[in-house]
Amino acid sequence: MEEKNALDKLRNGEKVLCPKCGKAFLKPYGTTCDKAHTFDCPECDFYTHYHAEIEIE
Ligand SMILES: [Zn+2]
Repeated sequence: MEEKNALDKLRNGEKVLCPKCGKAFLKPYGTTCDKAHTFDCPECDFYTHYHAEIEIE
């Protein structure tokens, strides 16, 4: 899905425009891009979770 693509980009440090409002770039919540599991939009209430498969070893 498109959302999954966006998350991959976010994790790579690319800027991704909010798919909901289109006014702002999504930003990682509480940490850096490569570590964040949640990204949210500063302009609206959109947020998304990254379903990581790398967490537990
Ligand atoms: Zn937004």
